[in-house]
Amino acid sequence: MIVEADPESTSVGRGGFPDAAGDVTLDASIMDHRGQCGAVACLEKTLHPISVARAVMERTQHVLLVGEKARDFATQIGFPKTGLLTPNARKAWKAWKANNPKWRSFSTDISNHDTIGMLAIDKQGNLSGACTTSGWAFKIPGRVGDSPIIGAGLYVDNEIGAATATGTGEEVIKICGSFLVVELMRQGYSPQRACEEAVSRIKKRNPGNPELFVGFIAINKSGEHGAFATKTGFEYALYQHGQNRLIPGLF
Ligand code: ASP
Repeated sequence: MIVEADPESTSVGRGGFPDAAGDVTLDASIMDHRGQCGAVACLEKTLHPISVARAVMERTQHVLLVGEKARDFATQIGFPKTGLLTPNARKAWKAWKANNPKWRSFSTDISNHDTIGMLAIDKQGNLSGACTTSGWAFKIPGRVGDSPIIGAGLYVDNEIGAATATGTGEEVIKICGSFLVVELMRQGYSPQRACEEAVSRIKKRNPGNPELFVGFIAINKSGEHGAFATKTGFEYALYQHGQNRLIPGLF
């Protein structure tokens, strides 16, 4: 929620870069230790998409609400409409628009997207996770990434572990990335090795695309954690024993 509200973060919530039409659209999901989950996709004018995703999980029988109707739901449960396009994001969009008249000219480089993904384990060993993003900068309007797709951008299985992803969501969706990482841990992989295997499958599918950025973080039932990405530029924060550490992700 802190990052969603931070206008300096250009890939999450307020300050996030908009789609090709200049609209900031947000994706988020959340999953708890009971296997309950909720998500929103292509949600506009909402400061905290993750809180709306949580409300979908806790207050409805559904998993995913999208677009205008998701915004109507947010209004009904008391989330005010909030403008999210900051002057900085508007300037970046204008500059992009001037140089990129064709939709296909987006770069999949890390500079154009990022997600905040969080995985947590409590004293009882219960696992949960969440992720939130404004998605791929200047995407085609209506595009939804991996983050609100349970099993792609986020997955939690309280018996085994949890995983979440960042990077080009299309590639994460194609391999059911976070579900894959958790299933690999079920087969005995450590969180680190599970993330490495998921990344290697994505790399295998995309030979000759050195720009492609995808990364996973994972945690297992004993609290071991790991992370791996297709390339450099990925780091994750670990909060453990009362201390915060920033760990450079391997690649
Ligand atoms: N995975 C997100 C998406 O594709 C964005 C990112 O993390 O780069 O929408």
